[in-house]
Amino acid sequence: MVKVCKFGGTSMATADSIRKVAEILLSDKERRFVIVSAPGKRFSGDDKVTDLLYASFNEAQATGDCSKSFKKVEERFVSLQKELGIKTDLQPVLKEIKSRIDVSQTPDYAASRGEYLSAVILSEFLGFPFVDAKDIIRFTEAGAFNADYSNDIIVKKVKPLAAAVIPGFYGSKDGGEIVTFSRGGSDVTGAIIARGVAASVYENWTDVDGFMTADPRIVDKPRIMRTLSYTELRELAYMGANVLHPESIFPVNSSGIPINIKNTFNPSAPGTFILPESTGENIVTGIAGKKGFTVIGIEKSMMNSEVGFARRILSVLEHCGICFEHMPSGIDTLSLVIADTELQGKMQKLTDKIREAVNPDLLQIHSGLSLIATVGQNMASRPGTAAALFGALAEAGINVKMIDQGSSELNIIVGVETADYERAINAVYDRFFR
Ligand code: ADP
Ligand code: ASP
Ligand code: MG
Repeated sequence: MVKVCKFGGTSMATADSIRKVAEILLSDKERRFVIVSAPGKRFSGDDKVTDLLYASFNEAQATGDCSKSFKKVEERFVSLQKELGIKTDLQPVLKEIKSRIDVSQTPDYAASRGEYLSAVILSEFLGFPFVDAKDIIRFTEAGAFNADYSNDIIVKKVKPLAAAVIPGFYGSKDGGEIVTFSRGGSDVTGAIIARGVAASVYENWTDVDGFMTADPRIVDKPRIMRTLSYTELRELAYMGANVLHPESIFPVNSSGIPINIKNTFNPSAPGTFILPESTGENIVTGIAGKKGFTVIGIEKSMMNSEVGFARRILSVLEHCGICFEHMPSGIDTLSLVIADTELQGKMQKLTDKIREAVNPDLLQIHSGLSLIATVGQNMASRPGTAAALFGALAEAGINVKMIDQGSSELNIIVGVETADYERAINAVYDRFFR
């Protein structure tokens, strides 16, 4: 049996936490493959190394020399090296990294170096071999993750090893250019390795006792889930429960490898198991949410009988390179719910093009929307969930701006004013969990 273990930023943040990581790994012989994140925050207000590396890239772009930002990265790694008694001299490596960041065209190389150095340090501390992610996690020329190609390499090069420490978050194209996943992507690397080595479990070690029924920063002491299904995880993670990257399930989906969320700082807690099918009995499994959305409301009489209306709107979005989140529609209205990050600098062009394409009677823009997802695989079979949800919001005096229930009935999404966001999550939580 083999276990794949991924340790997140808080687990890799200090010499003390790295000692805990080593203790966890050495206490179980099956824990042979280790994926690490870059060191995260040591205390509230501290910097994550990955953020410092993005800042280094930006500084290099602006001035040609990232010395100021990169100094903080050097300090973090040199102090880890000293405190852990690592013999490898990191100075020449850091010097080389700095000079490459100074001439980089894209931020990916810079961003990846936190994971790289983190893995170098842990591999020496543990005495496990280091395997560079650039040699096993491969991307296409267009920058998409190449799953089957990478899997073949992992089966050949990693699976036969007795043990390995592998940096998370990045890989490379055929020519050697470094490419990163989106933020939090070390979770995805862990899942890819778990598939490749046919792990019995993918342990994802973080700083909480498991996946909680709501964000612990918003709800006071939310319950820890014992289990949740891959699809529930995907919905919750995509909708903001960022304890695990939403794409982490794709690599393990076909083989059904369980993901176990565990706490590095409380290793005896059982954590949460994410399994192919739901085994939970609750109607609602969890609640998640995201801020920062805009609704573009399009009104036109008889829109419903106008053939190709929605298609023309979708073509405009495609033309402007914008992804939408939801598109609820009525008889004479259609709304586009779009993340503000998608709209940056594109709003004028988008609305001009929509006017041109469908000549609406009215086009209104409402910003400051937040989305809240109430997720549960058992919702489909139990009537009354929506009534309970909307009842809770109404009693709390919260105005619901948008409703979307996917056809899978796994998820009810509501849009509320961002000012009501925290209160709305607590109202829904109290109704289903207290
Ligand atoms: P890591 O650095 O280990 O990858 P992350 O910061 O990415 O850790 O994820 C863990 C954090 O996710 C927790 O500290 C917690 O604040 C936050 N979080 C948000 N939603 C949830 C949730 N539903 N359950 C547990 N943690 C959550
Ligand atoms: N270090 C990267 C980030 O901060 C990736 C990760 O931690 O998973 O996003
Ligand atoms: Mg994370």
